[in-house]
Amino acid sequence: MANQNSDRFRNFLTDQNHTWKLSADNYRGLDSVEEKLFLFDGFVIKVQFNPERMRSSAAKVDQDSIAARKCFLCSENRPEAQNSMNLLHDFLLLVNPFPIFKTHFTIPSIHHIPQRLDGNLEAMFSISRRMEGFQLFYNGPECGASAPDHLHFQAGETGFLPVESECSSLKKDSNAILFNSGSTTAWAFDYYLRKMISIETGSQEHGVQLLERILSRLGEIQPEKVEPMVNLLCTFTDGKWILHLFPRKLHRPAQYFSEGKDQLLISPASVDFGGVFITPRREDFDKITAEDIADIFDQVSLDEDAFQKLKDTVKNIN
Ligand SMILES: [Zn+2]
Repeated sequence: MANQNSDRFRNFLTDQNHTWKLSADNYRGLDSVEEKLFLFDGFVIKVQFNPERMRSSAAKVDQDSIAARKCFLCSENRPEAQNSMNLLHDFLLLVNPFPIFKTHFTIPSIHHIPQRLDGNLEAMFSISRRMEGFQLFYNGPECGASAPDHLHFQAGETGFLPVESECSSLKKDSNAILFNSGSTTAWAFDYYLRKMISIETGSQEHGVQLLERILSRLGEIQPEKVEPMVNLLCTFTDGKWILHLFPRKLHRPAQYFSEGKDQLLISPASVDFGGVFITPRREDFDKITAEDIADIFDQVSLDEDAFQKLKDTVKNIN
């Protein structure tokens, strides 16, 4: 079933690229995209030079800019050449014409409603289950979503983000376990450059409940935010969901706003937290260092104290 479905999604991309030149060109461009690798203690960060991602990295997402543009996820504004596939009652599958993954989809709601996890976690679990073989991800409205006014997820093929393989060895650390009950386990990692809470569950209901508790606690820590600041990855494989939640305190690092040689145009979102930094400018790709990566993660990830509060919440759920 999973393979049939993923074939169906891959075929949708192939068909789309037969009829939409912009998309076809950008997927072809991905074959020659430059990448380099930084080795840290037990894990890696890939850096991808991807100029087509400039529109996303540099997207103006303040209220006035959003109000002044036509929403590119609403059906009436989408390019005529862009096809859609019904995915799950309220969600559509679209080919993302500015890809990072070899197979990269945007999954918008059919309604123009704000980007929020609240009320949409069940949908995320269902979509993920339907898309076995793909990594589903969510960027919060102040955590990298370039359409914070229109609910959407994205998906790319599994096997691309380093976190997928690295989490197996991270999870061997029994001290990292926060919660273990029935088919649901949660871990917290604060020695992975970024703060990460991982959840593995065979139960959608338990997974949703656990995430709701974490998000509600983070909401108490960040009452001024439209929603708790997170990036979230979700895959479904062998009857289980695997989730990685990255709690944050900042949208863009200081380097983003610097000028001249100090500037690094990097606006971290789920893919970056998954271990692939996207640099839309050549100069940033060339000059970025391991120290920059560590510093950027440190600036945008939740503080130690607040992360401890989240860990305590999950530990005390029993
Ligand atoms: Zn819209």
